[in-house]
Amino acid sequence: MNLQEKLLERFLRYVSVTTQSKPESKVIPSTPGQWDLARMLAKEIEELGAVDVTVDEHAVVIGRLPARLPEGHGPVPTVGWVTHMDTVDVGLCPDIHPRVIRNYQGGDICQNEEKQIYIRVAEHPEILKYIGQDIVVSDGTSVLGADDKAAVANVVTALEVLREHPELPHGEMYICFVPDEEIGLCGAKSMDLSRFPVDFAYTIDCCAQGELVYQTFNAASGWLEITGVTAHPMSSKNNTVNPILIAVDFINLLDRGETPEHTEKTEGYIWVQGIQGNQATTTVKLNIRDHNREKFLAKKEYLQACTEMMRKRHPKAKLKLTLKDDYGNINDAITPENRKCVDYLFQAMNELGIEIHDIAMRGGTDGSFLSTRGIPTPNYFTGAENFHSRCEFLPLGAMENSCRTTLKLIDLIANS
Ligand SMILES: [Zn+2]
Repeated sequence: MNLQEKLLERFLRYVSVTTQSKPESKVIPSTPGQWDLARMLAKEIEELGAVDVTVDEHAVVIGRLPARLPEGHGPVPTVGWVTHMDTVDVGLCPDIHPRVIRNYQGGDICQNEEKQIYIRVAEHPEILKYIGQDIVVSDGTSVLGADDKAAVANVVTALEVLREHPELPHGEMYICFVPDEEIGLCGAKSMDLSRFPVDFAYTIDCCAQGELVYQTFNAASGWLEITGVTAHPMSSKNNTVNPILIAVDFINLLDRGETPEHTEKTEGYIWVQGIQGNQATTTVKLNIRDHNREKFLAKKEYLQACTEMMRKRHPKAKLKLTLKDDYGNINDAITPENRKCVDYLFQAMNELGIEIHDIAMRGGTDGSFLSTRGIPTPNYFTGAENFHSRCEFLPLGAMENSCRTTLKLIDLIANS
């Protein structure tokens, strides 16, 4: 089998295991299918030479590939790869039924004859970049799950290539598969980092060929809980305190220009994500995002100040603002000493002739969390496009280039 066939075979096998994560779950992993995939992957990487392979109580899989360096070679950095096993729940079918379009020649792609579901070139002209490639799509009832199973297949296939080619040197590597990335990076957050002693790591969790990410948001979640005073309207005058109206006043203090719908690139925002309430209590749910750490902190301080202002204006109400940091900008963890992890990525893609798209991601990855824990973890492309959509598609040529990037990184690090 050539590299593309190996990647495709694995990818199809992994998407046949249903692993959609469930945001409302109270346990990690949030769905039982993730256990099945975790056990399958643990066994597979063990067969490919990984040692000390464990599946922990949250279905986090970690395995170590001992270094294979020429005699007398000095030490090289220990590197980790983290990919996620879950697929996103965007209200589509959790089961994935992929179709492989061989040698795509342009035009709309029919995902599902029976239901007449297409990926239309008019809506997705990006697909025309892949004329001549084999392209994997879903049957239109679900996402494809290339996010992130294309990455899982990529890393396992890289292990297979190293196994088949004893002449290829590599440093010590840790392979990690996490559950529940899509529901708040829960799997990465539950990782026992003492079992992942790496100098730096990579995630493979973004889209089109050439995408490279080491700038992500700083992210926090917020909840403003407001408790008012209830009374019958007949005796309400100077008595009732309506928490719903306080919530509205609070929201009106926020900058309408700093919302997701009015910002782009590296502009941050406060997103009023939800408001739930009645005459007794009301909760406002907030998301705070900014690439710039100072501006991010300022946004959180502003929310505190707004809360204080509301307390003064409504002394009989009780207001409680809870802010929780979710992840940080990877770039804040990059220092002159550890910058190599980003440099290797640029060098690998340059040497492979892959045009680089250095993107400031308006989101976060497992690496955004790991970076806040002192493991700088940049991210690179899977090759797939339209994540989180029924139109998600995976061109195999781009997937192969993603795997070649992995192999090139391994090579560059071994020769450092
Ligand atoms: Zn992902």
